Amino acid sequence: MTASRKRRAPRHSLPGTFSSVVLLLLVARFALLQCGAWHVPSSTALPAAPDPPASAGAPGAKRGTEASVSGSVHVALGTPRDGDPSDEYFLDEQAFVLSYSPERRVPNWVAWQLDRKHLGHVRRKNDFRADLALPARFYRVKDSDYSHSGYDRGHLCPSADRQDSEEDNSRTFLFTNIAPQLHELNAGPWEQLERYARQRVQHGALLYVVAGGVFNAPTATIGNGVAVPAESFKIIVVLRQEQGPSDVDENTEVLAVSMPNQRGVGDHEWTEFVTSVDAIEQRTGYDFLNAVPERVQRVIEARSPARSLPRTRQQAGRLAP
Ligand code: MN
Ligand code: MN
Repeated sequence: MTASRKRRAPRHSLPGTFSSVVLLLLVARFALLQCGAWHVPSSTALPAAPDPPASAGAPGAKRGTEASVSGSVHVALGTPRDGDPSDEYFLDEQAFVLSYSPERRVPNWVAWQLDRKHLGHVRRKNDFRADLALPARFYRVKDSDYSHSGYDRGHLCPSADRQDSEEDNSRTFLFTNIAPQLHELNAGPWEQLERYARQRVQHGALLYVVAGGVFNAPTATIGNGVAVPAESFKIIVVLRQEQGPSDVDENTEVLAVSMPNQRGVGDHEWTEFVTSVDAIEQRTGYDFLNAVPERVQRVIEARSPARSLPRTRQQAGRLAP
């Protein structure tokens, strides 16, 4: 570019040529500085790409802090917050975001948006593995912590909610997205609710989901100190596909469910465990949906679903395709 402009520079006037050259040198120097600022050393010759979703956090946000995840679409309705962030390590896994408890060695919560675009046909990867994104000072849960424990490796964000890419599906098998669940819960009402949610999406819904555990004291553990939740909860905000976070109002449908991680749970429908967001906030200490205006939160968090829920097992999703 510089060369061609030089050729076009006037030749008949010496001062004119001189000032053009000086100007061009300044422009070139500025351009080089810009290149230096914008091109990360490792970058290849690809054209400038938009920011990857990974960099959802505020620029310069410290890893593991709330600020490092708060810009993610998955927490557009608010990053769940309790009084004490010292026991939380926040991770943006791109496919979902989460708060991990280094003490309990399970997620405090996992949040994800569920849209029709996430429901692809990628085969379940099943590559359960330790999450190396956790700092080395934390214990990283691995398969052996669950083996012969009597508990399933229960997904918070289900594998089937991330079937649009192999990478995202694989991320659901990180142990930071896993908590111990009895098989009859994991393969029973918990899975029923997962299927029901995906059916809603197939019928045009856009969901914002948060899932996690309720813990009793003292907390039972398996393997190397992995806490077993007394209950598994899930909060689902149901919008229409064409809507966005700012459309949440007093009439927005919200499903709040908390299921006991106890024997016998498999004999029940998920619809029997419907509760309110307020009740889950009380049991967990978290404030959910905190980006929603306070007056709206007050209404939708107090409500146990007013709308008719599926009544039969088939409607509840167990026998659904
Ligand atoms: Mn599961
Ligand atoms: Mn709230």
